[in-house]
Amino acid sequence: MKILLMGAPGSGKGAQGSLIVDKHNIIRISTGDMLRQQIKIGSDIGMLAKKYMGRGELVPDDLIIQLLSERLLQQDASKGFILDGFPRTQSQAVMMTDQDIIPDLILVLDAPDEVIIQRICGRLTHMASGRVYHEQFSPPKVAGIDDLTGEPLIRREDDKFDTVSQRLDTYRRHTYPVVQYYQSIMPEKVVIIDADQPPERVFAAVEPHLHL
Ligand code: ADP
Repeated sequence: MKILLMGAPGSGKGAQGSLIVDKHNIIRISTGDMLRQQIKIGSDIGMLAKKYMGRGELVPDDLIIQLLSERLLQQDASKGFILDGFPRTQSQAVMMTDQDIIPDLILVLDAPDEVIIQRICGRLTHMASGRVYHEQFSPPKVAGIDDLTGEPLIRREDDKFDTVSQRLDTYRRHTYPVVQYYQSIMPEKVVIIDADQPPERVFAAVEPHLHL
């Protein structure tokens, strides 16, 4: 099954993606995680991407399309995947269609802006897995440490208040139109989920749509 996980930053894509992966035998591909990995290893792509990400803007389409196309060719992606954070622009959606990658399900996590801002500003991330925590709402068992691996959690650089409103604006201008595009061409596959509830409740709303 090919699942697109869409929604504003902080709407819970990472958390729901992890829950789906933990329970079902499917891989999650996050373009945000891939970019952060490139930054970590100091690659040319990483250096370029960092500038855009730090401003809350989108990384240029050609760069992201190159990165993702290579990833989708790997063996483990042949049976299906959850795509988190892609497509984020009309061109990226067109690239998917051109490469005959037709999603089976488009999950759109919907939450009000004030909820999103509150969530992002307390967010802690485990870089290797993409698992996320929140300082108040879902703290790790030991402060600053990932529950499963014991590795440190970090606060993402773009999770600062100033960058968040820019990221929300970018979502509205570039990515929400992609949701509308899918609603117009394959409305039966688009499912809007109320993401303003605890992660397990959101997951309960997501699960009936997964045929894995
Ligand atoms: P969030 O959904 O919380 O904003 P992500 O980890 O998905 O977090 O993305 C972080 C940043 O990485 C984005 O603000 C953007 O700069 C960049 N990025 C991720 N995916 C894409 C993409 N498909 N196209 C362009 N830029 C992207």
